[in-house]
Amino acid sequence: MATIYYDQDADIKRLEGRKVAVLGYGSQGHAHALNLRDSGVDVRVGLYEGSRSWQKAEADGVRVVPVAQAVAEADIVMVLIPDTKQAEVYQRDIKPNLQPGNTLMFAHGFNIRYGQIVPPEGVDVSMVAPKAPGHRVRELYVEGVGTPALMAVYQDATGHAKEDALAYAKAIGCTRAGVIETTFAEETETDLFGEQAVLCGGVAELIKAGFETLVEAGYQPEVAYFECLHELKLIVDLFYQGGLSYMRYSVSDTAEYGDYHAGKRVINEQSRAAMKQLLADIQSGAFAEQWIEENAQGRPTFYKRRAEEQRHPIEEVGRRLRRMMPFVKPVEIEPEPVPET
Ligand code: NDP
Ligand code: MG
Ligand code: MG
Repeated sequence: MATIYYDQDADIKRLEGRKVAVLGYGSQGHAHALNLRDSGVDVRVGLYEGSRSWQKAEADGVRVVPVAQAVAEADIVMVLIPDTKQAEVYQRDIKPNLQPGNTLMFAHGFNIRYGQIVPPEGVDVSMVAPKAPGHRVRELYVEGVGTPALMAVYQDATGHAKEDALAYAKAIGCTRAGVIETTFAEETETDLFGEQAVLCGGVAELIKAGFETLVEAGYQPEVAYFECLHELKLIVDLFYQGGLSYMRYSVSDTAEYGDYHAGKRVINEQSRAAMKQLLADIQSGAFAEQWIEENAQGRPTFYKRRAEEQRHPIEEVGRRLRRMMPFVKPVEIEPEPVPET
């Protein structure tokens, strides 16, 4: 069983008299900074000159300074800039300003797990990773509840890295909901696997494969869209609330029998072997190496694949249908230009 910490297991007083720097003011950064401030913590935000987030943070009443200055001022540094930019900013602005006894914190373990950031001895390294987008982390805090989070210690130089991480988790509201103890490796590897095999890669291909099968067989794309994409949300809501059993309880017996009849033919031994291979590449570092190289090359494959996916027929029919469904509060993502090769 996982170890889970709640409010009574964390002491926010540990943060008294200590200065916290939140680097970045995006999805996570704004939520951490505002929640810390409202919990009475001395917080400053670190950004770069010309950042679009700078004015937003100041408008929210938060003090903003350049990253290097924020780190130099702070005892605790939470790194909430994009994962692909962290290593460079670490070398230039963070590392030269870290002091022994400081705490370096993350909300995702990628750069530590894959050695892109190698912190000095003498510094605590920990993680508090809320399991929700930043706007929810802020909204739930304001409502007096909280977001569940993962917590991990990578390096314990002071002997109280864990208590400090829990105090931080409490200050942003996470111990109200429960903070699960993990490691940087477990958080990073399961996060990458989940988004690749299930949440993003797996689900998107499943939707498109179902849609294409129907459309190629001559069925109307609009009908295929509703069956394979729109209705997915209704199904997900059921198992989010009551597990797969509640989904099966709620659908018809024909749908439930269809589930048992078809599921293992679609996600079969070959799909499971592919999942195992994805996991092996995550564990060996092969995937990380590929993604780091893709970034170093200016992301040619990433931008090409994004442009292709944005032009998939399901995106065109979906955009049209959602315009007629104001209740879904449609959001339109403009397709980006196809990169020249
Ligand atoms: P965002 O892209 O939403 O925000 C990044 C922020 O960093 C922006 O304010 C951006 O400013 C700023 N920034 C960009 N480059 C620099 C730089 N060189 N120096 C200083 N600031 C910079 O990031 P997220 O909040 O999504 O992600 C932050 C971390 O949180 C990541 O490690 C991510 O894995 C993790 N995480 C994210 C979750 C999420 O729901 N989004 C959930 C859990 C963890 P500007 O926009 O002005 O360029
Ligand atoms: Mg993820
Ligand atoms: Mg049906």
